[in-house]
Amino acid sequence: MEKKPFVTKEQLEEIIKQHPTPFHLYDEKGIRENAARLAEAFAWNKGYREYFAVKATPNPYLLKILKECGCGTDCSSATELMLSDAVGLSGHEIMFSSNDTPEGEFKLADDLGGIINLDDITHIPWVERELGRIPETISCRYNPGGLFQISNSIMDNPGDAKYGMTTEQMFEAFRILKSKGAREFGIHAFLASNTVTNEYYPVLAKILFEVAVRLHEETGVHIGFINLSGGIGVPYRPDQEPNDIMAIGEGVRKVYEEVLVPAGMGDVAIYTELGRFMLAPYGCLVSKVIHEKHTHKEYIGLDACAVNLMRPAMYGAYHHITVMGKEEKPCDHKYDVVGSLCENNDKFAIDRMLPEIEIGDLLVIHDTGAHGFSMGYNYNGKLRSAELLLKEDQTVQQIRRAETPQDYFATLDGCEMMKKYL
Ligand SMILES: *Cc1c(COP(=O)(O)O)cnc(C)c1O
Repeated sequence: MEKKPFVTKEQLEEIIKQHPTPFHLYDEKGIRENAARLAEAFAWNKGYREYFAVKATPNPYLLKILKECGCGTDCSSATELMLSDAVGLSGHEIMFSSNDTPEGEFKLADDLGGIINLDDITHIPWVERELGRIPETISCRYNPGGLFQISNSIMDNPGDAKYGMTTEQMFEAFRILKSKGAREFGIHAFLASNTVTNEYYPVLAKILFEVAVRLHEETGVHIGFINLSGGIGVPYRPDQEPNDIMAIGEGVRKVYEEVLVPAGMGDVAIYTELGRFMLAPYGCLVSKVIHEKHTHKEYIGLDACAVNLMRPAMYGAYHHITVMGKEEKPCDHKYDVVGSLCENNDKFAIDRMLPEIEIGDLLVIHDTGAHGFSMGYNYNGKLRSAELLLKEDQTVQQIRRAETPQDYFATLDGCEMMKKYL
């Protein structure tokens, strides 16, 4: 499928008069339409809720939009809990799915009324100590181990993942939690990441539903919800077929009716914790070409670098690039599109065929709305960019300013030597 930016060159030229590149730009209309489609795909389930994975894009303005679309949040740290609280989420609108949880964070999640999703059986006494009790509603994260396969293809390797409890531990945890006063139980699992197939959720659902029936029958607990977590991917590459969320919802419904309903568990709510699917396609990184270099290869240098978008450097991830205004030109030039870090993996694209690029061209790097800005860092003293929101009425709102050197030096407060720069 052809990948088209959600802004035009003319719009961007207007925007950069006020907001210098680089910046992340988000598309409110796209976000709302996608969230509405997701809600429709699971409308068959009475208790359905999407808990947006805050780590993907921790910006309160975006969380607020998602809240208006009916989403809660999935948090894994104290600051993510604070963001959720700040946008007015509370109680069971907040899920706390942490691992290797630092002291005090279960307490904060509980103070906000959030649902705690335990990553490990050893967290039971830890939670009990922090809270002085076991919450009435509690969830456990499941990891069946082995490989996660759909048909004959290996999707991921849960047996090698640090998350979740084994099958035996799930049974033991449910028994202990029940004996300590838990009344409403949930099951959670995240077994494959960025799946671009309509089969992932239905296959995962079947595994979870079957273990839920056994847990219910053997421990006598009431299972209130099953959390399919994240993992629904997006087509980063133009040749990938996008997921059909309606087909995914329907696939889960079928398994629900095959497994849960006959077991008398037709009241189980389905939860999701999507991050990437909710926002990745509705954000892009806008950057300007500032240099070209002709040595052993052809290089195009941007004013953005890996601190603005780490995925290519970290995972070798593909992000599509559009050279604005040159969409119709032939892609007959092979470039490495690079940033300015003193690290040779700071390349947004390697050997990418693109139209001939000139200094000053505006590049849109696609699908950065999730795990983009949020993975930013300050290596090489580089500063994080601004985040802008293209609103439904097509006006632009700055929803986070760019960092300044003062921000970078802020934690050296009190340092006499830095006085000039603070
Ligand atoms: C990262 C994460 C998610 C979101 O994953 P996506 O790939 O962005 O959908 C959901 N739940 C948990 C526990 C996570 O760690």
